[in-house]
Amino acid sequence: MSLFGAEPTQLEAVVLTHEHTDHTRGVRRFCEEFGMPVFATRGTLSLITLDGVETRTISAGRRFSVGFLIVDPFKVRHLAAEPVAFSISVDSIKLGIASDLGSVTPDVVKHMSDSSLMFIEANYDEEMLLNGDYPDFLKRAIKSDHGHLSNNDAALLSVEASSEKTERVVLVHLSRDNNTPEKARETVRDRAKKSAYRPTVDVVEHSASAGPFELR
Ligand SMILES: [Zn+2]
Ligand SMILES: [Zn+2]
Repeated sequence: MSLFGAEPTQLEAVVLTHEHTDHTRGVRRFCEEFGMPVFATRGTLSLITLDGVETRTISAGRRFSVGFLIVDPFKVRHLAAEPVAFSISVDSIKLGIASDLGSVTPDVVKHMSDSSLMFIEANYDEEMLLNGDYPDFLKRAIKSDHGHLSNNDAALLSVEASSEKTERVVLVHLSRDNNTPEKARETVRDRAKKSAYRPTVDVVEHSASAGPFELR
């Protein structure tokens, strides 16, 4: 926790996007220890054990607040019970967070648009996945509409959602086996060259922590 400059006591809640263990491991123990509530969709809550922890049910399209943050959950396609992604606003600053989704739909672009700071999944490089060692069923699941975003998908979302307000794009959820930080960064930067907006592109490497990110 202290790695990105925050202590648990400074946090108000944990907000989950979906139930997969790479996003929920340790949540129960952490929230119980610090008396913190968990916000998640009904589908997500139905699949994780949170005994002894206060839970709040959220759903796509229904705004809620955590402290002074306004959070707008929106639907994404991912192989999970009821996955969502979030945009978070404070005054005129908006943060868009889109990870663990298989397709960049117009609705995803709409919710991410005009963010000052965007966190976007760049899970795999298409060639690395194709030529890698994963079994075919897994390759298909990752590439499917309900899988993960490739570097090209991340580049597309970044360009489509960027505006003059967008300062920074942070690429997250990179596969250790099917991607490299260099490939992810280059793909997103290359696509931005043909666009009117060129936000700074950062990459969060696997299991590293990110931030804090400063905005102008
Ligand atoms: Zn994940
Ligand atoms: Zn997932």
